[in-house]
Amino acid sequence: MEKQAGSVSALSAAAMGEAWARIRGRLREEVGEVEYRTWLRQMTLVGIEGDEAIVVLPTRFLRDWVRSHYGDRLRALWQQENGTVRRVDVRVGPERPATDTTPEAEAPRGNGLAEPLAGKPAAAARAAAADARSDWSAPLDPRFTFDTFVVGKPNEFAHACARRVAEKPASPGFNPLFLYGGVGLGKTHLMHAVAWAIRNGEPARNVAYMSAEKFMYRFIAALRSQSTMEFKESLRSVDVLMVDDLQFLIGKDNTQEEFFHTFNALVDAGKQIIVSADKSPSDLSGLEDRLRTRLGCGMVADIHATTYELRLSILQAKATAAGIDVPKSVIEFLAHKITSNVRELEGALNRLIAHANLFGRAVTLDGAQEVLHDILRAHDRRVTIEEIQRKVAEHYNIRLTDMSSARRARAVARPRQVAMYLAKQLTSRSLPEIGRRFGNRDHTTVMHAVSRIAELMQADAAFAEDVELLRRMLET
Ligand code: ADP
Ligand code: MG
Repeated sequence: MEKQAGSVSALSAAAMGEAWARIRGRLREEVGEVEYRTWLRQMTLVGIEGDEAIVVLPTRFLRDWVRSHYGDRLRALWQQENGTVRRVDVRVGPERPATDTTPEAEAPRGNGLAEPLAGKPAAAARAAAADARSDWSAPLDPRFTFDTFVVGKPNEFAHACARRVAEKPASPGFNPLFLYGGVGLGKTHLMHAVAWAIRNGEPARNVAYMSAEKFMYRFIAALRSQSTMEFKESLRSVDVLMVDDLQFLIGKDNTQEEFFHTFNALVDAGKQIIVSADKSPSDLSGLEDRLRTRLGCGMVADIHATTYELRLSILQAKATAAGIDVPKSVIEFLAHKITSNVRELEGALNRLIAHANLFGRAVTLDGAQEVLHDILRAHDRRVTIEEIQRKVAEHYNIRLTDMSSARRARAVARPRQVAMYLAKQLTSRSLPEIGRRFGNRDHTTVMHAVSRIAELMQADAAFAEDVELLRRMLET
């Protein structure tokens, strides 16, 4: 492999990908497999800007760790590869590169959860085929397949539509397929899954996946270099066109216009189009009307916010895939606490797994609360201990002061334990903190209360229902 001479910008995407693969290989040898998997495996090279290589990691936690522990080493290794790289910027960013700088054949960027697509040896061949076919598609994430997509009520329709399109692209009624939903709910995952399924089934098919931004940049670049004809030609050779996050084209009238024409040409030629956005076609204000109409005339499928059940299944599936034993209580706790989206849920679980791997400790509820402290604070439903005490006292018809009194009669002691239990479940306060708020009790008293209530809930369905009711009242 020849070293690239000259400026960094002369470094082709392929050469850059190779350099990056060598750097990762070196790091892996230097730090060992466990450490590499825990901290470094999720690094993605976004590109090189000026004299700076930009590397992203999916969470702040990982970024800080990699910066402080491996930052210097990364820079040194880059300099060995290419003297013009003087700095390495480690950022938090999307897990996928914003540009095509990482060739598909590169070692998969796993997160240590799901094993990348089966048949890895085929990856290089696939990448070569992809190169020959088209330079349009951004790399596909090897983890985003149908196998790893967990289906539940909120996404079953979108999933079924995606499956259908993967099996029979461009069938009537499913073209275009318009997927929409909030951030982190699996739109990109589903699109990649369709792309993988089609590529694996029919390698000759030209499947191009790209972000709407990328589409726009390519179009603008073509305008500048007066090569819009080539742009059009090459796009129209695509069999399946996927454009992700179409909302980014809002307000970009020229690009919308071009997309509209490309769209029509492809559909007329019997090609499949899949588009995603954060809103339904009718709610995407700022989109040209005729484009909106065209987008809505195939199949429109929304992905709803996750439910508790879906969050449970996703966590369970990811823990199993990672081969880590995560207790049910921790899974329930996370599913309960982190309701925003799947990406955050995954991030929290990844962090737990990283810690478990690193310190060789089992995952426990207490440990999880500690490790995820900052995330949990942010997601705290802001139920306060006072509110819990008030609600519980009201419910059991005892005085609020008895929450902190020394009285030990069952009639007040049990509700007090319920309140402690709920404080532990619904807030991110530590055991000693909770103890203090209940009349300066010891943290072991709180611990005892929590396990006692959990036991009683197991044994007595009516009691469990009661506690669950309280919990729901406090949460809404
Ligand atoms: P979006 O494109 O809608 O913002 P992504 O497709 O990027 O969301 O999903 C965010 C993360 O959550 C990804 O890592 C993805 O694999 C994961 N994810 C989302 N939905 C599911 C699901 N149903 N099963 C498994 N993983 C999921
Ligand atoms: Mg996405």
